[in-house]
Amino acid sequence: MTVAEDLMRCKTHGEMLKIVEPKGRALLREWKQKLLEEALDHLVEEYYGPRWQKRRHHAPTPWICLECGPRDSSQVKRNSHYRRQLVVLEGVITLRIPQLRCRHCGKAVALAALFLTYRKRYWIDLDREITKLYISGVSYRQVKAMIERQIESDAGLMSLWRRFQARANGASYPGLKEKLKVLYLDEAYIKIKGAPFWSLLALGEGHSGKRAYLGAVQSPDRSETAWV
Ligand SMILES: [Zn+2]
Repeated sequence: MTVAEDLMRCKTHGEMLKIVEPKGRALLREWKQKLLEEALDHLVEEYYGPRWQKRRHHAPTPWICLECGPRDSSQVKRNSHYRRQLVVLEGVITLRIPQLRCRHCGKAVALAALFLTYRKRYWIDLDREITKLYISGVSYRQVKAMIERQIESDAGLMSLWRRFQARANGASYPGLKEKLKVLYLDEAYIKIKGAPFWSLLALGEGHSGKRAYLGAVQSPDRSETAWV
């Protein structure tokens, strides 16, 4: 049985740690840190362009300002990085995460990389998968490409999903600052690289009548699955 197979049979983190040697653990921790930081930077560059390049066109992004609504690439600016900790199988890593700001109101715009907070179970599974790939000798480049695809497909959908979950719990929204009375769903048709895309918007209305954008997501179709 290979180490990778052993790992897949483990039911707890403790069991996995016994397999991964202590010395290898430190290396793996660094490997994951670099992998995730680069994948997050890549996500920003995908929509925003490399740091050295001046933005001339207005490309749609999955980012949304809680005050001003959906932002295109010309409406956000990079605002260095912030640090946050993430628990991985081998301990705690500190990640440098790109910070984005709305050019209009100056508020922080969430990057919405799901594995960092809201879906803990999801992150544990992804972490396990990365560990398995590392131990099986899959190249850094290949794993990074996998993570990037994952983050990208989740970036838009998850920010919306997270907000819907907050609604289910009766929580008030940061953009609205009061409890939600009505949730409007709206859509806009846009083209990305020549392909048609539907931009799905969630607009909330509070008891005082105040409205705020709660989320947006780009989808190649208008089906219900695109919403959840
Ligand atoms: Zn704003």
